[in-house]
Amino acid sequence: MSLTPLDKPVQFLKGVGPRRAESLARMGILTARDLLYHVPRRYDDASTITPLSRVEVGMDVTAVGVVRNKGVVPTRSGLRIFQAVIRDDTGIITCAWPGQPWLDRTLRVGDRILVTGPVKFFHGRQIQPREHTLLARAPAERRTHTAISDNPTATSTPDPAPHGTIFVSYPASEHVPQWIFRRLVAQNLGWLLRQVRGDEYLPAAARDALGLPELSAALDTLHRPASVDHADAARRRLAFDELFLLQLLQARVRHRATRERPGIVFERSNRLIRALHDSLPFTLTGAQVRVLREIYADMASPRRMNRMLQGDVGSGKTPVALFAMLLAVEGGYQAALMAPTEILAEQHARRIREFLAGLPVGVELLVGSATGRRRAEARARVAGGEARLAVGTHALIQEDVEFAALGLAVIDEQQRFGVRQRLALAERDPAPDVLVMSATPIPRSLAMALHGDLDLSVLDELPPGRRPVTTRLAGPGDRAEVFREVADRLARGEQAYVVYPVIEESEEARLRSAETEYERLRDEDFAGHEVALLHGRVAADEKDRIMRAFLAGEIRALVATTVIEVGIDVPGATVMVIENAERFGLSQLHQLRGRVGRGDRGGLCVVISDGAAGSERLRVFARTADGFEIAAADLRIRGQGDFFGAEQHGHRTGLRFADILAHGDLVGPARDRARSLVDADPELGRDENALVRRLLEQRYGDRAGLFGVG
Ligand code: ADP
Ligand code: MG
Repeated sequence: MSLTPLDKPVQFLKGVGPRRAESLARMGILTARDLLYHVPRRYDDASTITPLSRVEVGMDVTAVGVVRNKGVVPTRSGLRIFQAVIRDDTGIITCAWPGQPWLDRTLRVGDRILVTGPVKFFHGRQIQPREHTLLARAPAERRTHTAISDNPTATSTPDPAPHGTIFVSYPASEHVPQWIFRRLVAQNLGWLLRQVRGDEYLPAAARDALGLPELSAALDTLHRPASVDHADAARRRLAFDELFLLQLLQARVRHRATRERPGIVFERSNRLIRALHDSLPFTLTGAQVRVLREIYADMASPRRMNRMLQGDVGSGKTPVALFAMLLAVEGGYQAALMAPTEILAEQHARRIREFLAGLPVGVELLVGSATGRRRAEARARVAGGEARLAVGTHALIQEDVEFAALGLAVIDEQQRFGVRQRLALAERDPAPDVLVMSATPIPRSLAMALHGDLDLSVLDELPPGRRPVTTRLAGPGDRAEVFREVADRLARGEQAYVVYPVIEESEEARLRSAETEYERLRDEDFAGHEVALLHGRVAADEKDRIMRAFLAGEIRALVATTVIEVGIDVPGATVMVIENAERFGLSQLHQLRGRVGRGDRGGLCVVISDGAAGSERLRVFARTADGFEIAAADLRIRGQGDFFGAEQHGHRTGLRFADILAHGDLVGPARDRARSLVDADPELGRDENALVRRLLEQRYGDRAGLFGVG
């Protein structure tokens, strides 16, 4: 990888000695570029700063003052409070940091600080800062740093806003405080900005079209903005760069999957597709028709299909998959449908056989539990080509199942499979077209950012006549009543799920547990009904047995943790109770709720939680049944980091600047630009692409060559 001046160790910059370099390294700042990209996390506009004389109890303020005196105050409860009295031209006020006595070592008398937080009454007005920023070191301290005369904060005494009227706050650490970052930036920014001009890969016309500033100008603005709005606009530029490089990586994965191996041009005779249309007990929704058109177009093109189908629970992904599979069969190929569990595979096989009754299409079920001669015969039918459709678990493609001519592979509940399993399909020879299905709706921009290597189809419409699940919020005081109601339903022949956040009780968590409550429900509330317990520690074959018994109606109530099978249809299950609902993510609650009311009776979901009414998450949950709306709310409430953590199972996008909610509009343009670049120059080997190739390698290192997304 070619190095540029910005790759120099940060130690070569002004004001950085070996010790400081070490402290910076601990924050991940190793090179000059790292420092340049260490941009403020917060901006405060001087005009929103409240003069100390006007600070009042009950306000939430941002204020600036010089520390007059300070100290640690012990309290009777043993809590130690750091207090500092600050003053400005208008007055003085006390700031208090309960439980942070160590601040006494960091803040000095004479320091100019910015504080943000609520104003409480405690022997008078008191700010309790959520955040504080050291704007300028005490004058005595500055005199000892004579070597740094070009430091703007070290010259004149009152320096309320080191960079114009906007206060910038850097992410800092105990060893590298705010004011050090300000000083380092002041000393080095000019040189850093001159170097980064060589990283500008976007032509002016492209920047104009996207409304983005030039790169060095954007970084300049981020470090010293004229206004908060300017900083936001500059941040968009860095967000675009991140999204673009991620899309570039994904575009290369996509290229490998779809272009390097020729796709199959499926010939459509309509023979089977027409017959299925005629025999289907319902008409397709508008969304199903639209999505099928996208899939047919992919399959008819010489480029391999690599498409994701997103649709909420119950939106009808199975019929879509079936039509696509029939197109493959019409064209003389076989198709495979993979599900994450045997039960789901069996459900699919059963339904598909029903849909295809009377059509000359052999359907084979291939699951691990089938053994001996039956298994051998099933495999032989797939290998010989008599079986046109094969349904099974991932064993279907992983093991040495031979297909006579596999043309299309459909993966259901793709979030349960790894990216590698999907890519393994692309390695088969000949490589089938791939359709992955997901019942975890996420906003379109997010789906594009995460799965840029796939094309996206969305089923955004439910079949007509669905009776929505009624959702009710309840408090702990309603519990007895809720379970009485559930018991009544059991007595009427309905089935129920009761979901708990944990398997066992533990001292610290004070949560209701599946094990304890199972015993209580079995012996008391639901006495006389068959009740079973299901959780992650139940052995796989026992779990399987329980699910089958529940499906058959032999078990009436299932007490469970979140292991309840995704995608399984139990028509008799009409009611679900979720305990300690505050412990579940919004999208997770939605997935759980999708398990009830699959029959024609309509469902009921009761969530029991201490602060149910006060929780925005639970209110959103009760208000809407739309998975996409729920996902968007979840993202908004939890923020991107947590959302990824929970939903993407360790997926790290490494996005620092791009925020999907704020910058979602940039994902599409970033993807288009990346794809057209890769389509024209797959290895990015041309001279004019040398720069983006370097940037890609810089960001993704070894992974830049291959997949590594996910
Ligand atoms: P999911 O997207 O959750 O996999 P399914 O494919 O299992 O949804 O469909 C849910 C139910 O809706 C099934 O019983 C299916 O037969 C039915 N269904 C699918 N499409 C339609 C439609 N267009 N009209 C009426 N019912 C439909
Ligand atoms: Mg499904």
